[in-house]
Amino acid sequence: YIQLVLFTLQETSFIDPLTKLKNRLSFNEDMQSIIPIALRENMKIGVLLINIDRFKAVNDEHGHDIGDKVLVSLSNLVRDSLRDVDYIGRYGGEEFVLVMPFTKKEDACKRMENLRKRISSSVFCKNLHVTVSIGIAEYKEPMTINDFINEADKNLYKAKKGGRNKVVC
Ligand code: GH3
Ligand code: MG
Repeated sequence: YIQLVLFTLQETSFIDPLTKLKNRLSFNEDMQSIIPIALRENMKIGVLLINIDRFKAVNDEHGHDIGDKVLVSLSNLVRDSLRDVDYIGRYGGEEFVLVMPFTKKEDACKRMENLRKRISSSVFCKNLHVTVSIGIAEYKEPMTINDFINEADKNLYKAKKGGRNKVVC
């Protein structure tokens, strides 16, 4: 019984209750095992951050509950657009991390441009529109998890600076 409780606690501490995506803790753990395999296989990996634009305004104008609903619908939309081998996590409040094995930067860019367009033309909670900014990096030896997140984050910042609703590689 204790084992079952501990297992359940462990499981829930890795899953975000709202979106049911893996959380940041889980992402960091999973990368510890994914990176060595990738290195061994000499695999290209696209890593990217997706941040919802002006999400604070959605909460301010429509309330936190609607904000939550938008977060859930948007996570589902992103998850449904991924391949089985892709990895998605909720990296922060309104920020998601994607890891795409066997994917070079250019291909990650093309796929994310499609996703960006799809999100910007979608309707959430009956009448809401949101856009996302996306920063892309490619995993290269001997990067650490922090290194590639920082590179993706720099590009995300450029996308925001450049007016939002943009993908920067
Ligand atoms: P930017 O385009 O620069 O990213 O603007 P932003 O408003 O999205 O960014 P900012 O960091 O100022 O605000 C993020 C907002 O996301 C504020 C916070 O209330 C909201 N948020 C984070 N997590 C949740 C959540 O779980 N539910 C809801 N409803 N809102 C959340
Ligand atoms: Mg934001």
